[in-house]
Amino acid sequence: MCPCQNGDSIPNDPSQMVPVDLSEKPKVNGINGHSNHAQPSAQPQPQPRHNPYAPRASDFLNNVSNFKIIESTLREGEQFANAFFDTKTKIAIAKALDAFGVEYLELTSPAASEQSRLDCEAICKLGLKSKILTHIRCHMDDARIAVETGVDGVDVVIGTSSFLREFSHGKDMAYITKTAIEVINFVKSKGIEVRFSTEDSFRSDLVDLLSIYQTVDKIGVNRVGIADTVGCANPRQVYDLIRTLRSVVSCDIEVHLHNDTGMAIANAYCALEAGATHIDTSVLGIGERVGITPLGGLVACLYAANPEYVKSKYNLPMLREIENLVAEAVEVNVPFMNPITGYCAFTHKAGIHAKAILNNPSTYEILKPEDFGLTRYVSIGHRLTGWNAVKSRVEQLGLKLTDEQVKDATAKIKELADVRTQSMDDVDSLLRVYHSGIQSGELEVGQREALDRLLRKHREERHTEGVTA
Ligand SMILES: [Zn+2]
Repeated sequence: MCPCQNGDSIPNDPSQMVPVDLSEKPKVNGINGHSNHAQPSAQPQPQPRHNPYAPRASDFLNNVSNFKIIESTLREGEQFANAFFDTKTKIAIAKALDAFGVEYLELTSPAASEQSRLDCEAICKLGLKSKILTHIRCHMDDARIAVETGVDGVDVVIGTSSFLREFSHGKDMAYITKTAIEVINFVKSKGIEVRFSTEDSFRSDLVDLLSIYQTVDKIGVNRVGIADTVGCANPRQVYDLIRTLRSVVSCDIEVHLHNDTGMAIANAYCALEAGATHIDTSVLGIGERVGITPLGGLVACLYAANPEYVKSKYNLPMLREIENLVAEAVEVNVPFMNPITGYCAFTHKAGIHAKAILNNPSTYEILKPEDFGLTRYVSIGHRLTGWNAVKSRVEQLGLKLTDEQVKDATAKIKELADVRTQSMDDVDSLLRVYHSGIQSGELEVGQREALDRLLRKHREERHTEGVTA
């Protein structure tokens, strides 16, 4: 729902906006656009543009176009305050994420509860393409339960920050290292993947961190994980830590980034730039407190860097369905400013933007709505509107008006919208009345009083129809 009701608000309902035809080829302004200038015989073709967001060739560690997603809605997401997923919901979410194409699904530890263990087994039996992981404490008891569920891998975690060592499990680094080796060797002996992660990595001692990661890398762990458990890290810190870690281990590197300061997507991007290989996400970012890197936001960010790569890996038009599924399950709305699926993500309002969008959408769009199965809209019934957007609507309605007439009608729309935002129906009525006035000879450009009279007459007729109907 749109919470804003002021005069300049964008209508929430797409039926109140002009959908912009996606099949239209980009027009070059003044050539194939809205100009009355004489057309040159050879029309220049738009050149493919350089993508400034793409990784540079010199960034040899950069994995922005070579990464895997570990989707943790069914583990981290279960820690969201509102979340309770029954078996049926878990299976629906798992299947949807698998169809979307995420490489891994991470599930709650089977040691957490009997139902968690049964659900883990049920999801393993679905035969999904995504590999199934479960997330456990660095403890042999948990590891023994996990490997019996049929998972493809086990994510092991232990706290290494002074806070966790002092106030949580109370273990020293020697004990942590010894247990880690034991658990990793056990999981490996079962022939499945194993990841070792510290918790609260950014507030852990760097020497301790690098030393334990080097140790587990030597015994053949598949991935090491860095976790910004409290969401305190900034992109530069993430880059520096991953870059340092990349130089001391040869295994894959996973990052788990909380969003307490709104940095989770930026931090994930920087982690990939520094050589990380796997990013943890959850749908809508749900998780402990304000959650982690959101799947949709991360996809938007990586699509901007390399659209073809992201399109080749993931079924992007499924994103909205998956977000709605999870939003409903945890009883929240998709946020209005959500990348890609926020209700105004592809709605253009200002007249100057609308004009450029109608000529070539890339002018004001870095994401193509059609790649996500969505539609772009131009909002026109407001005081910031422009005649190019109104002209587009005139054409959609099949009305014949000259540019001068469209500009005249636009001036009237702006005048009315200065009092209140005009609905699509209001705008369409005005354009139809204007058009029939021109056709019948009752109206000419600039005859404001004649237009007002025709509009009044139209309103009265409508009112009478409403009363007699
Ligand atoms: Zn977390």
